[in-house]
Parts: sequence; structure tokens; C-alpha cells
Amino acid sequence: MLILLTNDDGIYAPGLLALKNALSEIGEVKVVAPLVEQSAVAHTITLSHPLRAIEVERGGRLFGIGVSGSPADCVKLALKELLDEKPDFLVSGINLGMNLGVNVLYSGTVAAAVEGAMSGITSIAASVEMEDRPKFDTAANVVKWLIHRLLELKMPSGLLLNVNVPSAPVKGVRITRQSLAAVQESFDRRTDPRGRRYYWITAEITETEEEGSDIRAVKEGFVSITPLQYDLTNHNLLDRLLSSGLGDVDDVAF
Ligand code: MN
Repeated sequence: MLILLTNDDGIYAPGLLALKNALSEIGEVKVVAPLVEQSAVAHTITLSHPLRAIEVERGGRLFGIGVSGSPADCVKLALKELLDEKPDFLVSGINLGMNLGVNVLYSGTVAAAVEGAMSGITSIAASVEMEDRPKFDTAANVVKWLIHRLLELKMPSGLLLNVNVPSAPVKGVRITRQSLAAVQESFDRRTDPRGRRYYWITAEITETEEEGSDIRAVKEGFVSITPLQYDLTNHNLLDRLLSSGLGDVDDVAF
């Protein structure tokens, strides 16, 4: 079994090391990850610069390939150029900070997993709650457990799963939907050493008790597993528009 690992915190991030250590026990692991942190770059790709791919050592041994681009760049390059065969799984993480609710739209961690799923590879985005001593090893073991379960259940390939692990002692696992709770955003307005104004965004998801959501699950101490999709078509609205007659106009001039 071949597992491709990537992230958006960069190839030197501790979460990626924890993931590599845990998943090396169940398969061959290849790391292709951004050379520098790419958090919140979403699905950006590099068009106007070359991509460098260099071997990176950690602890005196080859750790993986560092790429001078985004998480999505890493996955594309790995699949098209760097790997000899198609991986059985892609895991992106372990991200420092959970990717919940609408924040998945900004996440480079999730985007890398989307990229893998687009190529038909079952892809897992995994994130852990931010705290003084993030539980990277716990989250990596959750991913290892999840891969085992997916294999046991003979799930089809190409799945896209978003996994979030809370800091509290894990009570269990919940299959959830992505919360649509609003994010309360504001800007800290500050002054730099030269007297010029600058801004720093802050964002907080409003408290929510939505039953069955990712936010609710982690708040209650459960690992949240949310199946995602990259089909952005609103199928309900598609059906309504198709039956509304809005598109039945063949002779209109603009
Ligand atoms: Mn990140």
C-alpha cells in the first residue's frame, strides 16, 4: 500500500512527522509537501513561477520532497511527476488547527485532499485542535485507524474525508456534516514601528449547537469525520431551474 502525505503547514511541520511515523507502520509512505507554510491558501496553484522540488532531510535521513508551491501544486506534481505509481491513499496534515464549518473553503489542508480525490484517490484531510501541546500523535493514530476501517469496509476509492481531532480526551468518532455556522470576522487594527497602520484578521466561529455538525462533534469531545465533495453544483436549484422554464428560451437575442 502506497500512501502520499502532504500538508499546508510545510514539510518541517511536526504534524507531518507524526503522520509519517504512524502511517509508515501500515504502508509505504511518500512525502511531497510545501517547503514553507501555505496555510489558508485554499486551492491555489502556481502558474507564473517555476516549481522547485528538492529532497528534504529530517533527523539526518531523507524525509520527503519539498516543493516551492501550494498544497495543490504538491499533489499535482507528486501524481504526475514524482511518484512511480498511483497512491492508494492521500493524507493531508496533521494540520495545526481544526478545519471546521465554512473554514474548509480556505484550507490548504483540505484543498490538497480535494486534489487527490479529483484523481480518484481516497483522500483524508486531518487536523488537530490548536493548543500548547497539540495531540499530533493521537490524530495520526486516528488516521491510521480510519484507513484500516475503510479497507475493512471495502469502501470505493476516491472518497474525500475531513477529519478533525479535538484536544479533549477523545470520546469516540462521529460522522458529521459540515456546519454552515457564520464565522465572526474582525480586524485587529495596529500600528507598526514606523507609525503606519496595519491590519490582522481574526475569525471565530459563533457558538452553535447544530445537531450532527462537525463543530458540535468536536465540541462534545468526539473525532469528527465529514464526507466532502468538490461538486459545487447546487442540484436542488438545478432541478428547480430546469423545471422553471428559465432555460427553455432558444430564440432570445441579447
Ligand atoms: Mn495549516
